[in-house]
Amino acid sequence: MSASTIKPWVVGNWKMNPVQAETTQLVAGILDQLSASDALAACHVGVAPIALSLMTVKQQLAEKSHEIAVVAQDLSVKAGTGAFTGEVSAELLKDAGIDHVLIGHSERREMFGDSVEVLKQKLVNALAAGLKIIYCVGETLAQRESGQANDVVMQQVKDIADCVSDLQWQQQVVIAYEPIWAIGTGKTASPEDAQAMHANIRQGLSVLTSAASQVAILYGGSVKPENAEALAACPDINGALVGGASLNADSFCAIVHAFAASK
Ligand code: PEP
Repeated sequence: MSASTIKPWVVGNWKMNPVQAETTQLVAGILDQLSASDALAACHVGVAPIALSLMTVKQQLAEKSHEIAVVAQDLSVKAGTGAFTGEVSAELLKDAGIDHVLIGHSERREMFGDSVEVLKQKLVNALAAGLKIIYCVGETLAQRESGQANDVVMQQVKDIADCVSDLQWQQQVVIAYEPIWAIGTGKTASPEDAQAMHANIRQGLSVLTSAASQVAILYGGSVKPENAEALAACPDINGALVGGASLNADSFCAIVHAFAASK
């Protein structure tokens, strides 16, 4: 299987946004543009609302579409149920019908103490509960400028490799390459630089798993309608993780259409 035959993904990471009324409007806008469109057959689509809105967004989507996934932005290092105030486990997400979760976003690594050990525990819990994970990797500007980007990113992939079986790589893991200097800054990696990193990740993956050609590798970092087509045309870019532009239904759906049309 060539990597270019992977069905693309476009996932909106809403981060700590928006308020409830705007969430309802945003979901309605996405449904208006996507629920009757062929794009959902050509592209996996997901949205990652705040934890408080996971169920309401799921219910609102289900009225018109069962194809748009609701993605949790985080999960607990603790599994199952128990006396862990403030936490939501993989099993509780799965029980609520939430099948996808982000792990390793640079904001969680940098601001909330998600160390490699913490991320591995979250990943192990998520995989064991049957969740699909979107595992984020990416280098800082200083690391890129000092020529370390490939090594840093591959190390982040290797960090989880001993916890993921070939079948799990194939069925439960998506990688999102998000150069930290491009997140929320308006700066995007050029399609050539992004493609080069994605090819590097896929090459590195081929040493770690026989499923390397089946792992979707998304690009994230200031993806917008204006740059989506060029990114989508790259053979190893299998979709996008979109922050800011996913808070507007028109721009999010334009990005979905760009990826749906390209593959
Ligand atoms: C993100 O936070 O995952 C992201 C890619 O954000 P933005 O699109 O705003 O750069």
